[in-house]
Amino acid sequence: MEFRRLRLAGFKSFVEPTDLLIEPGLTGVVGPNGCGKSNLLEALRWVMGEASPKSMRSGGMDDVIFAGTAARPAREFAHVTLSLAGSAGEELEVQRRIERGAGSDYRLNGRDTRQQDIRLLFADSATGAHSPAIVGQGRISAIIAAKPAERRQLLEEAAGIAGLAVRRREAEIR
Ligand code: ATP
Ligand code: MG
Repeated sequence: MEFRRLRLAGFKSFVEPTDLLIEPGLTGVVGPNGCGKSNLLEALRWVMGEASPKSMRSGGMDDVIFAGTAARPAREFAHVTLSLAGSAGEELEVQRRIERGAGSDYRLNGRDTRQQDIRLLFADSATGAHSPAIVGQGRISAIIAAKPAERRQLLEEAAGIAGLAVRRREAEIR
């Protein structure tokens, strides 16, 4: 699975439609404090089915909607759209929308889809809302400080091959 593009509108500080191309390889997000780096990662987790407002640093899910500033009124909707290439190279577009007070819904290639199915879509790959391939600020130093075996485990999980070692062990036992 390969992420290609992330589009946001009304999501946290990304009030105007924002379009990010995700190039192949490792992507780093850098910028001054408060510019929205963590918000971007949260958008990526959110569109993949994150259900916990707490891990969005929010009290309730509506808090992901732009809350307004002195100069701009709050929004009633937030949209995040992730374009990706599936494991067989097929083009997929996952969209999650939320309306204040009305909850959120999902679309897969333009068709209404349940959260459960969106989560399943990401479940068997190295992606998903809790993917070790998404490394937040606090975890970078933890990865650097980790023991070699722990670091290897993290890298295998991020590469989506952690399950292979388990299956190999099972095969050896038999
Ligand atoms: P740091 O380097 O300090 O970690 P960062 O680049 O990760 O900063 P974020 O935490 O992504 O920054 O963005 C913080 C900004 O997002 C704050 O200015 C905060 O007010 C704004 N923000 C968060 N939620 C909303 C919201 N619902 N509506 C409007 N602004 C929001
Ligand atoms: Mg941050």
